[in-house]
Amino acid sequence: MSDKPHKPATRAVEAGRRREWTSVPGQSGGVVNPPVWRASTHLYDDMADHLAGRPNEDGHFYYGRRGGPTQWALCDALTQLEPGADGTELFPSGVAAIACALLALLRPGDVLLVPDNAYEPTRNIALGMLKQFDIEARPFDPLDIDDYTKNFCPRTKAVMMESPGSLTMEICDVPLLAAIAHDQKALSIIDNTWATPLGFPALARGCDIAVMSLTKHVGGHSDIMMGSVSAAKPLIGRIRRQAQLMGQVVSPDDAALALRGLRTMPLRLERATESARRVAQFLSERPEVSAVLCPLLPGTHDHELWQRDFTGGCGLFSFVLAKGADANARSRLIDSLDLFGIGYSWGGFESLAIPFDPAPIHTRRPWPPGIDSGSGLGVRLSIGLEDADDLIADLSRGLDSMGMA
Ligand SMILES: *Cc1c(COP(=O)(O)O)cnc(C)c1O
Repeated sequence: MSDKPHKPATRAVEAGRRREWTSVPGQSGGVVNPPVWRASTHLYDDMADHLAGRPNEDGHFYYGRRGGPTQWALCDALTQLEPGADGTELFPSGVAAIACALLALLRPGDVLLVPDNAYEPTRNIALGMLKQFDIEARPFDPLDIDDYTKNFCPRTKAVMMESPGSLTMEICDVPLLAAIAHDQKALSIIDNTWATPLGFPALARGCDIAVMSLTKHVGGHSDIMMGSVSAAKPLIGRIRRQAQLMGQVVSPDDAALALRGLRTMPLRLERATESARRVAQFLSERPEVSAVLCPLLPGTHDHELWQRDFTGGCGLFSFVLAKGADANARSRLIDSLDLFGIGYSWGGFESLAIPFDPAPIHTRRPWPPGIDSGSGLGVRLSIGLEDADDLIADLSRGLDSMGMA
């Protein structure tokens, strides 16, 4: 084998398939995928083995709550996909991963900075749950470096980031925000669900901790819930201790599904990105649409930053209906779509549409952002693996059915 690290798509295929997890000791050959090891109890060989104890690390049998080979294989694979990470912890959902990472890093009296366009449950954890522990969360505008910088104080210990922002899809200057946090001795945590390390190698760009909802792209088939946290040592050890204290564990069946999803993730993301770019372009040319919030589309500052920092995208973006549309027209549009399910989550093989109204959530920046012609009514699309021509035809019919033109 050459010393040069393989490219991400190759790692997505190879990672985590260690021989000890895909073969039987003493037998030649093996299988492609680590089997599903269902286990609560792990056994010791004898009393001497038991008394010797086990390192608290993946790869050592101890007890089901610390996972077995199927979960270890997934952790190993995710760690190998994230350059700069020394380990990965799994959680039963993305929200559980975010909550646990924040609890691991913050102590009473600390201040956490949260972007105004954060995923809403993240905002609720920060401003709600953490308050009970006397941790102060301060929302900041991730596009306004002054607003960000002036929120720091000696008690600021961590910064949460998301790029693009949830729903409104702004790309922020993550390397700069992370560098400022670093100068201020605060840890930077990024929710990297949109890009995954394939599209944005977060630790290599200066973040300390990368969180993902594996429910989305890694699962990829809308049939599992899971989350992950990846980081370098010693941070990953703090996350691991917190996760173990809180009894966080995922089933081996779900871990096997996540591994299955991971193998095709680069291909799926490539296809969804290409289709999303085409659908976004189509929407930007329609009179019923006042703005397409999609970093893949050329001509915006978001796109410039995306091109500078990212190596890929995905199928998730939003658009805003033009003035003249009302909530009923938006409902008619979404109801008329044949190929878009109405549902939360995203990153599956199937396309989805969901309405959103961020005005009550955002407090630092008015919505819609500088779009005077807009109605403020948002629709978020998750573009799946259908043929883009069919998706465009479906949306075209739907926009016609609003009767606005
Ligand atoms: C869905 C989502 C999450 C939460 O993931 P779950 O697995 O649904 O708990 C976190 N962050 C972002 C950006 C998401 O879209």
